[in-house]
Amino acid sequence: MRVLVIEDDDRIREDVTAALEAAGYVVDSESSGEEGWFLGDTETYGAVILDLGLPQMDGLSILKRWRKEERTMPVLVLTARGSWSERVEGIDAGADDYLPKPFHMEELLARLRAIVRRSSGQASSVIKVGKAELDERQMRISVRGVPISLSPQEYRLISYLMLNNGRVVSQQELAEHLQSVHFERESNAVEVLVARVRRKLPASIIETRRGFGYIVPAVAGSK
Ligand code: CA
Repeated sequence: MRVLVIEDDDRIREDVTAALEAAGYVVDSESSGEEGWFLGDTETYGAVILDLGLPQMDGLSILKRWRKEERTMPVLVLTARGSWSERVEGIDAGADDYLPKPFHMEELLARLRAIVRRSSGQASSVIKVGKAELDERQMRISVRGVPISLSPQEYRLISYLMLNNGRVVSQQELAEHLQSVHFERESNAVEVLVARVRRKLPASIIETRRGFGYIVPAVAGSK
């Protein structure tokens, strides 16, 4: 996992980088807020360790910009000792956790592991049905880990069925959910869409219950 460290204090940055590398992380480190913000905006990181007190672009501004741009990687902020207002601001700006300076490296590593665990334990937004997986946050369906390319309509259809796995969904309900006037006019539009999705996913994932609708059967272990 790759971690970004943004800290202008050379000593702390080097110590943290060394500790993270020793713990098996791949580390990018930056002393400049602006450069750090850019890296976090353009690269993919499993987590970020962000000092709040930085020259030019401070940590809070960086964090707010990332969150506004929907960069959702977990962020651990480093705050000045005893500054409760900084901690409050950091958390309000979207930090996942904070650590006041000075800190023990072991505590930093433990907090980092915890925020990474929490961020990857998004059980509620990832639904598994058999070999198919729906990631709602990324709006993506993958089969055996391979993302499937779907049109927005196809995605809406299969995601709705997967979210409702184990329940028969009528054509009418599907049509309403897809929210297109088109579907009200053409009675076979849902059938056509189902056929298209079946060609892209394992065909057996959507079962037809003639006269009732469609169902993605619940599979043991699905959430
Ligand atoms: Ca600093």
